[in-house]
Amino acid sequence: MIKILDGKKVRDSLSEKLREKIAKLGKKPKLVIFQVGNDERSSTYIKQKKIFGEKIGFDVEYIQLDNTVVESELISKINQKNADESVSGIIVQMPLPESLNPVRITDAISPEKDADGLSSVNIKKFFVNDKSAIVPATAKGIISLLDFYKIKIAGKKVTVVGRSLIAGRSIANAFLNRDATVTVCHSKTKNLKEETKSADILVVAVGKAKFFKKDFVKKGQVVVDVGINKIKDKICGDVDFKNVSKVVGAISPVPGGVGPMTVISLFENMM
Ligand code: NAP
Repeated sequence: MIKILDGKKVRDSLSEKLREKIAKLGKKPKLVIFQVGNDERSSTYIKQKKIFGEKIGFDVEYIQLDNTVVESELISKINQKNADESVSGIIVQMPLPESLNPVRITDAISPEKDADGLSSVNIKKFFVNDKSAIVPATAKGIISLLDFYKIKIAGKKVTVVGRSLIAGRSIANAFLNRDATVTVCHSKTKNLKEETKSADILVVAVGKAKFFKKDFVKKGQVVVDVGINKIKDKICGDVDFKNVSKVVGAISPVPGGVGPMTVISLFENMM
């Protein structure tokens, strides 16, 4: 029978432990979220983080800046939060307007407050498998999801489709750090179906609604869908869930799979 990798259920289960940890701190930890502009998707993600964070006992401060903000001004605001002892974590929601350099902005966050784990210092630690690294939230969330369902990772053949830093590349590295044999595919990959079908665990993060049909998968495979797409106001993943779920052994749904795991992982990164 098909196993649904239920991210909401796992998040709720892990939330209990996190809530207890926060309660023991004796003061509320604080996350600061910067948003530049008002991209609708980003606003939705920020809202989800704020609601969840406050539910588990965090203070979440949301700072929205105009699209015209200059780099030095944003960096100065980040520095104020770096220096503020009441702040445990800082996020600058991506994407940024083209006028701002995402690497310079992310690197302005002090490494110990880098909740997303995307600053150069953290990324380097993560890529050399330094255990003190803050693991980027989506990658961490996927590993936690598979661990919860006791899906073995070491020695397995994992194919990741997508190579952005925030998703595919980080996810691939997280599996490598757990001793999987990893193949990374992208838009120039030849014979994509062969690569996806040969995996024990297939993770897709391309941002194309229902792109992966049942001819991309094989019986018994574990499929993790990272994609978040919209078709006529309905959220769906990169996988054609209805048909693929008839073939594979386990699959994460969208919504309710990787999304909730990303959010909880972000807060775990600050504890
Ligand atoms: P992105 O920066 O646009 O990257 C997309 C990747 O997919 C690129 O590496 C691209 O290859 C590859 N790709 C595109 N078309 C392809 C094709 N036909 N065949 C093979 N590879 C193809 O997007 P992203 O930021 O990584 O996000 C990907 C998706 O994940 C989006 O839907 C996003 O919303 C979602 N997401 C979800 C979460 C979550 O928490 N659930 C977190 C992050 C992202 P090239 O490199 O060759 O261009």
